[in-house]
Amino acid sequence: MFISLLPSREKSLLRLHPWVFSGAVDKVNGNPKLGETVEIVDSKGNFLAWGAYSPNSQIRSRVWSFEKNEKIDKDFFVHKLKRCLESRRTMGFEPKGANAFRLVNAENDFLPGCIIDYYAGYLSVQLLSAGWEIFREILAECLKEIFPNCKGIIERSDSSVRIKEGLEPQVKILAAEIPQHAIEIEENGLKILVDLHSGHKTGYYLDQRNARKRIGELAKDKRVLNCFCYTGGFGLFAAKGGSKYVRQVDVSASALELAKRNAALNGLENAEIEYAEADVFTHLRKCRDKDETFDLIILDPPKFAESTSQVEKAAKGYKDINLLAIKLLAPGGMLATFSCSGHISTELFQKITADAAVDAKRQVQILENFRQAQDHPVLASFPEGMYLKGLLLFSGSEQI
Ligand code: SAH
Repeated sequence: MFISLLPSREKSLLRLHPWVFSGAVDKVNGNPKLGETVEIVDSKGNFLAWGAYSPNSQIRSRVWSFEKNEKIDKDFFVHKLKRCLESRRTMGFEPKGANAFRLVNAENDFLPGCIIDYYAGYLSVQLLSAGWEIFREILAECLKEIFPNCKGIIERSDSSVRIKEGLEPQVKILAAEIPQHAIEIEENGLKILVDLHSGHKTGYYLDQRNARKRIGELAKDKRVLNCFCYTGGFGLFAAKGGSKYVRQVDVSASALELAKRNAALNGLENAEIEYAEADVFTHLRKCRDKDETFDLIILDPPKFAESTSQVEKAAKGYKDINLLAIKLLAPGGMLATFSCSGHISTELFQKITADAAVDAKRQVQILENFRQAQDHPVLASFPEGMYLKGLLLFSGSEQI
């Protein structure tokens, strides 16, 4: 079975970009089923890659391998997974030491559509593309072999991304058992509870590990507003770092519940931490109307742009919250602002925050840039992999 591309549409594959868009496909030969492995050839019939076929997706195929002699079988996946583990060891993460890290970062780790996070002996897997409908069981077997002491493997494929691929969202235990209660991981000296069954994504946002640590270093004696706090991460690090006051804001009551339990777990029950179950857009306006100010504000919203067509609307959302937050900064205050929308480039994000500052009538300086933590590598030929960007802004006392 093979798919052939239209003339000159092979260029991105020759540059090792792992996606074939539907518009590049000329013919599909042999009636491949959802997720089946197909050979991808150029308009003259020359081999380009092996990929998984996805008839309902705009990304018609995701590349498994650019090697003609490669067989996409169990050995192939064992090899790729071992490579991931090896690279995490090189970065200083491994099951014996750091007890929570991203083991597999999808396309960026040569396993398209597959995310695997390691949480204190458990594996949480997200399978987001069609190819895994064929290889799900093989993947589970490989993981059991590579992690013989693994306490349990859960598949958390309850993501709307699957709908674009024509796949049903699903949650399934792939091996052993997953406790009903939240499990405990450790991150830079703090204990964090992770709900593997119903936490967001795979359970926790490991990609912000470095930024959370940095906020802890910056928070001493500061009044902190942690917007989109989820289970409290940035605010907990701030409190541990000696902040004067922290307000944790999120719409999710269950996330705030875990945030409170996390504070207690770390002996921070007496720290000045307040919890607000609120919509951030509304809450920031309320703060403005009450003339509240903060020394350190964190804005870590969910993805506002799911596709290119949503970029404009997303940009408005980012500008709105950034403008409001900058206005709430006390003189000498700092804003750590993030975007995890892959469709919003680092340059565009910087422009949005600059525009927000102009409208807020404040001059701000960029002190630091943030990106996703190093266990979320970016494949050089796949710029889409660089999704998380952040800026640490400083606002002096001068008004424009
Ligand atoms: N900063 C967190 C991760 C944030 S994820 C960490 O370090 O772990 C984004 C969070 O935004 C989620 O918890 C979600 O419940 C929350 N959220 C989404 N839309 C929101 C809104 N409009 N107002 C408040 N919270 C919102």
